[in-house]
Amino acid sequence: MAQDAQQGVGGTAGARLDLTGILERTLGGQPLSTEEGTRLAEGPPEELPALLEAAEEMRDRGHGRRVSFSRNVFLPLTNLCRNRCAYCSFRREPDQPGQHTMTFEEVRHECRRAFRAGCTEALFCLGDRPESLWPSHQETLRQLGVDCTAEQVAVACRIALEEGLLPHTNAGALTREELTLLKRCNVSMGLMLESASPRLAGKGMPHEASPDKAPGVRLRVLRDAVDLRIPFTSGILLGIGETPRERVEALVLLRDLHLQEVIVQNFRHQPGLLIPGDAEPDAEEVARTVAVARLLLGPEVNLQAPPNLNPGGHRLLLRAGINDWGGLSPLTRDYINPQAPWPHAEALAQTCAEEGYVLAERLAIYPEFVEEPGYLDGGLLNTVRERSRELGVKP
Ligand code: SF4
Repeated sequence: MAQDAQQGVGGTAGARLDLTGILERTLGGQPLSTEEGTRLAEGPPEELPALLEAAEEMRDRGHGRRVSFSRNVFLPLTNLCRNRCAYCSFRREPDQPGQHTMTFEEVRHECRRAFRAGCTEALFCLGDRPESLWPSHQETLRQLGVDCTAEQVAVACRIALEEGLLPHTNAGALTREELTLLKRCNVSMGLMLESASPRLAGKGMPHEASPDKAPGVRLRVLRDAVDLRIPFTSGILLGIGETPRERVEALVLLRDLHLQEVIVQNFRHQPGLLIPGDAEPDAEEVARTVAVARLLLGPEVNLQAPPNLNPGGHRLLLRAGINDWGGLSPLTRDYINPQAPWPHAEALAQTCAEEGYVLAERLAIYPEFVEEPGYLDGGLLNTVRERSRELGVKP
């Protein structure tokens, strides 16, 4: 930060912000400042090849040419949510078509199906604390035999474990007590920071009606999770009205946390959303941001970009410094194309191979967090060690 302040005054700022100098310094081991990151994020298109080359080199230093993915099943426990993000296509209200809260029987059925299909991860995703907005949902939870959403998630996670899957939960802005409860039955958890800009909660902005998206709320959860030693995933969301500088500021905040993974996710438009379609970042912009993220976060960080949101950009993302593709669900692909098992993973492996990379399967917890003291309780640790051996992944 002191370096940022220095660059804002005096005549050396311009010289310090030339592309070659910035890339040389960061590859030499000097952390990028917010000013330097913003300079890279705002650079002209002709600078992209040099930026990608530097990001690729930095990723290779930390991860070589191995790019991972997790074979998962997506379990949307409930699509009720007390927030109203302008870009959300997941959220429903009670009585709206498509509204659904999964029963525990459905959770078990899906987990069994997923285990048979070779999945290792149960990915639980749900809206934020819906019972605080709708009394009817309190009744639904009572019928499920639980008092609140966090308890519902805990029961679902135990079912997943019984069925041989490793749970990873994204349940919104949880309290410290809820994080503590869910740590006992999750091998990892996540919460996207999305943005650290309070501006996005202003009038007419995408987080105006989303109290749980306030940056202070998100950062409190992230700090609690790190403090509780939960293997934790976070990341930023591109294309929701943020500026390049705001992207960099969010990444700098994430850099200061000991996260297991950082995601650079891009908004994709769908009909009916409040946010305009032209907000979608194109493939070059996504790749540029991934490259800046790699240079800001350093060689070791696990950096992910979702392949399904960038169908034409896989090669660019590899060059931009990712080392992970996130979750791929064979069940979804089976449904679309049942005669071709694992087509998505196979196609991705082929692209990786053509670009000189090896696609490798991982668990929902990265190997370096498995044996680090305090992260996994005894029972979960034994389960993860067992699954690691089966998969041939070294913890
Ligand atoms: S928090 Fe926002 S993005 Fe997430 S489910 Fe709720 S409305 Fe959708």
